[in-house]
Amino acid sequence: MAPRTLVRGGTLLTLGPACRVLEDHDLLLEGDRIARMGPSGSLPGPFDQTLDARGKVVLPGLINAHMHFYSTLVRGLGKAAPSKDFQEVLAHLWWRLDRKLSLDDVEVSAEVALLEAIRKGTTTLVDHHASPGAVRGSLDRIARAVRRTGLRACLCYEVSDRDGERVTEEGLEENAAFARSVRGGGDAQLRALFGLHAAFTLSDATLERAAALGRELAVGFHVHVAEARSDVEVNRARHGQTPVQRLFARGLLGKDSIAAHAVHVDRGDVELLAQGGAFVAHNPQSNLNNAVGIADVVGLRRAGVPVGLGTDAMTLNMLEEVRVGLWAQHLRQDHPSSGFGELTGALTERNPELASRLWGFPVGTLEPGSAADLAILDYHPPTPLEDATALGHLVFGLSQAVVDTTVCGGRVLMEGKRLHPDLDEERVMARSRELARRLWERF
Ligand SMILES: [Zn+2]
Repeated sequence: MAPRTLVRGGTLLTLGPACRVLEDHDLLLEGDRIARMGPSGSLPGPFDQTLDARGKVVLPGLINAHMHFYSTLVRGLGKAAPSKDFQEVLAHLWWRLDRKLSLDDVEVSAEVALLEAIRKGTTTLVDHHASPGAVRGSLDRIARAVRRTGLRACLCYEVSDRDGERVTEEGLEENAAFARSVRGGGDAQLRALFGLHAAFTLSDATLERAAALGRELAVGFHVHVAEARSDVEVNRARHGQTPVQRLFARGLLGKDSIAAHAVHVDRGDVELLAQGGAFVAHNPQSNLNNAVGIADVVGLRRAGVPVGLGTDAMTLNMLEEVRVGLWAQHLRQDHPSSGFGELTGALTERNPELASRLWGFPVGTLEPGSAADLAILDYHPPTPLEDATALGHLVFGLSQAVVDTTVCGGRVLMEGKRLHPDLDEERVMARSRELARRLWERF
């Protein structure tokens, strides 16, 4: 029989479209799913283990819709030349760095990010990977880190023509090989999308080959779209079309695809996004950091585009991202009361919709049948915490709280702020420091 875990006496915040607050409730996990929820003491035993959630708030494990694990090893690197715009940020930092990554770097950077995700209660991550000097096998190395840490991740390799034909070819093959390896969904930790860098580094021929392969493999695409104005300018100059038009025309923005950013989209682009049904991953902290602008999340939602939330590797803390995203949206709309529903909905409704579609069962909400993924936070609400105030507490209070316990797929990965001993954080961080030092020497 599947192991039964009782989570006792917490305040449950269900998230999802009808976010409810259930005070002093128990939650029963059976295997990798939530089996039952009920008032404290009402669920029948026996239990294989009990987690004490009294004085704590229980959230579903949080979801990051756009991440780059490989960015981990850049923290503190001071060598990049100053950049005056986004093209220079790519040329001076990211494209210099990703070319130098080895497979060992790739694996350790993923493991570091995943351990930090556990500490922040983020249990599902949609990653977008690039290592042009070590393409083959890179997704398998990330998958190894994912399996070891116990979280869920959807992986892809970002195909680009920027490093020459051989690397383009390897990128196409890497996506296809990984998508085949996880086909059937038997491994509940791993899923695949087909990765593309961005339209401005991809020829029509490569876009068409990717589109054909994606169709054959029945996977959606994960691509940066109109992140900076330069993406629009380059595509217009070379192809006479916006990035959205080029990708849409090849069927790359369907409902199984993720378009990251969508900062520089015009009215026609927004209509195409809505028509195609692609999920837009909004990454406010990254957009602010790169000074590329702030996506019009309110306008995109009004047009019917599903907008979720990613971090673009700026953080593993989704509650920090939603909070900054809200302030940024106030500025974007020039209105301090605009965007609350759109931003909180991105994290609490759209991201669970995305993950549930990718995984093929409910992920990211507390309800019977959902994935047994939990983030349990220390939080004594100083004001009434009830259905109508839950999202306000999420942004203004829970975002400042400490995660005590993290569970994914029924496995307790952190309890009482201590990671599971198998995860050996000290060893992973020491190895990461060693590899980062060598990478920086090569940079
Ligand atoms: Zn990105």
